[in-house]
Formats: sequence, structure tokens, C-alpha cells
Amino acid sequence: MKLSLILIFSILLNFKVFSQTQDNLKARFYDGRFLVYASNYKIAEEVGYKIREIYNKTIKKLGYVDAYKTQYQIFIWQNKDELLKFLEKIKLKNPEQISAVALYDYKEIPTIACYYNERLIEELQHEFTHLLIVQILDVSPKEIPLWLNEGLAMYISKDSVINTNNFLKNSPSFIELSKLLDLDDYPKDKKERDLFYLESHSLVNFLIDKAKNREVFMSFLRWYVKKGYPFKKAYLYSYNIEINLEKFQEEWRSYIKKGDGYGD
Ligand SMILES: [Zn+2]
Repeated sequence: MKLSLILIFSILLNFKVFSQTQDNLKARFYDGRFLVYASNYKIAEEVGYKIREIYNKTIKKLGYVDAYKTQYQIFIWQNKDELLKFLEKIKLKNPEQISAVALYDYKEIPTIACYYNERLIEELQHEFTHLLIVQILDVSPKEIPLWLNEGLAMYISKDSVINTNNFLKNSPSFIELSKLLDLDDYPKDKKERDLFYLESHSLVNFLIDKAKNREVFMSFLRWYVKKGYPFKKAYLYSYNIEINLEKFQEEWRSYIKKGDGYGD
């Protein structure tokens, strides 16, 4: 009896929603590690109860055991305008496509800022990937090539690459591999930006499918991101195959044409 009372009491202590203002978000949920701030209590509680599971799914798909004790903050605004107002306030340049954003070091806590919408869970997984990759590879966010950062986040947050490859298969335009690898800013044009995300998603899947096991791909990430080696050299050191970018692109495009998301 006593034990169950203690248990109930500690649960009440750990999981609670209470009033504390953070950038005008008046509801807060805290479970000892994840801090969820929202515009109202219902949302703070709803997301608060799911957040650890979303995080665990992300880390599992990345192939990592959760060895970290980092705290995370999630800010959820009621609508896009409020989110954009906040991003403006913290002077983050906010391209139009933004619905959620990873703030690597907001007041010293890795933070996700987003707004409440029906794709929120997928978006949280996407942004968690951005926060976790930096942590796993122990690099600064700027060191991660844009295509890889977005491709990985898409890989983790989407169930499969089938729709992506089908879209690319029928797309009249294509960003050449050499250009994709060098992109250091998001394309301004909406169509090209979508293409950039989808190609990055497809390329990450292609690389993962080509790796005999996850360690080969992780080793590629270390050479390419951590050591900053060029794509070809990082590929040679991890996959043990010397490649030529044009031939590699041909191979990737025939993988796209197959459309099923599986390599040979
Ligand atoms: Zn992203």
C-alpha cells in the first residue's frame, strides 16, 4: 500500500503540466528529461505523453542505443504565424517551407520549435534526427553537408522511400549529383527545394541499401562528416569501392527507376 502510494506520488511529481511561461507559451509538461511548452495545456499534455516514444523511435531507427542524458525542449505554437514570429524574434532566417525547426543550442538546450499540425509527429522525428546526428558524430551542425542532414532526417521520419523514388522517376528535372553534394543553402525556388529534399532522401536510402551493414554507412558518415573527406574518398574508405561520380549517379538513377526503394 505504502509503496503504491509512493509510486503514485512520484508519477504525479514526474509527469505534470503546470504554468510556466517560455516565450509566451504558457503550458508546460515535464517528464524529467523532455520539456514540452505549448500554447495550451491540452497540447502540452498530448505531446508530452508521446514525446519520449517519438524520441526512442528516432534513436532506434538511427541504430543507436540511447546512451545520452541530454534534456530536450519542444516549443509548440498554435499556428505558423506564431512560430514565424518567434523565429523572427530570435533572428533565425525563416524560409517559407518551415513548419518545424531544430535549434541546436537554444539557451544551452537542444530545442525543437514547431506549431501544432497533423504532421507533427513526423516533423518531431525529422527534427530530432537533426539534433541527434550532431550529438552522435560529435560535430557542429555546420559541418554536416545539407543534403546529408536533410536526407537522413527524411530517412528517419518517413516510412519508406517508395513515394520519393516514384516522384523522382517521373520528374522532368533533376539536380545533378555533383551539384547536390555541394549545395550549402536551400534552393529558393519551391519546386527545386522539393526536388532537393526528395533527392537527398533517395540518396541516403541508396547509400544505406548499398552498405552491407549499418556500420559501413556509419563509417562513411565519420569519414565524410567528421573527417571532412570528399564524398568519393569517404566512400572508398568505408565501402571499399573506388567510384566515379558520373557512374555512381547512373547507378543511383537506375535504383530510382526501379522505384521500389530496394537496391540489388
Ligand atoms: Zn530538416
